[in-house]
Amino acid sequence: MNVLVISTGGTIASTADARGALVPTLTGEELVAGCGTTRKVRAVDVAHLDSSSMGLAEVDMLRRTVRKSLFDEDVTGIVITHGTDSMAETALALDLVHTDARPVVLTGAMHSADHPRPDGPANLRGAIETAATQRGTGVLVHFAGGTFPARGLMKTQTTANDAFTLSSPSPLPRPMAVAPAPLDGLNIPIVRAWAGADSSLIEALGPVDGLILEALGSGNVSAAMGEAVAKLLRRGIPVVVATSVPYGEVSFAYGGAGGGSTLGALGALPAGYLSAGQARIALATALATGVNPRSLL
Ligand code: ASP
Repeated sequence: MNVLVISTGGTIASTADARGALVPTLTGEELVAGCGTTRKVRAVDVAHLDSSSMGLAEVDMLRRTVRKSLFDEDVTGIVITHGTDSMAETALALDLVHTDARPVVLTGAMHSADHPRPDGPANLRGAIETAATQRGTGVLVHFAGGTFPARGLMKTQTTANDAFTLSSPSPLPRPMAVAPAPLDGLNIPIVRAWAGADSSLIEALGPVDGLILEALGSGNVSAAMGEAVAKLLRRGIPVVVATSVPYGEVSFAYGGAGGGSTLGALGALPAGYLSAGQARIALATALATGVNPRSLL
């Protein structure tokens, strides 16, 4: 029985180039050889990306790779090495379609492989152990000694080792998994609100399949931005309201043109505890699959 390690790049696989800039250079096999695991592991490389470039086409590819890999009954669990910048988004994308009892565990690193104190080897060793021993958990992130569910997870540190935190006080229930329809091609931008925001960013969007509004507080934007969002909602564009506040739930309480209560009455959906990035993945998955977005938020 093997744990399968799927390598996609990120800091865990990065070393400094001649200018000192970090670029993914190491293969999955090299990562596994350096992590000190005693488990039987097979490694494959599917990308060498900084995870800021992990687009919907790459997410589709990872969903297909995981699905195909789990046809092999000798695979006890899957580990994906991934950049931390969008790890929580990819983890949710995989979790929304994951039905197998065997886990998929994402991990990565905050320090490069050639750093004097790299955190990648211990993270990878722990993720392999988690993938070999857990069952029925869905998709997890193993990082800095902790194991987290995908849903509600966010990156909350730019450089510290313990980079991930749940936005909710306790783990969130996983919705029923949906069929993995391709996400590539969907245009769902995230627009962040600021105090006194005008309507210009919303008006400049062009044709979109949906919008994630990263609002203030419990889910409010300025009156001018709210009026522009209302026009999208009246045209039937799905809008999900997330918040730039790291912890807690979006709840539509306030009136006025940009208040959550007003936007909600026009059909905007609250992201609950999901970050804007995770809400975007949930909305994309819902639109691609044809299920009500509310059921995945
Ligand atoms: N920029 C890197 C990435 O997301 C950061 C990391 O891996 O920690 O690929």
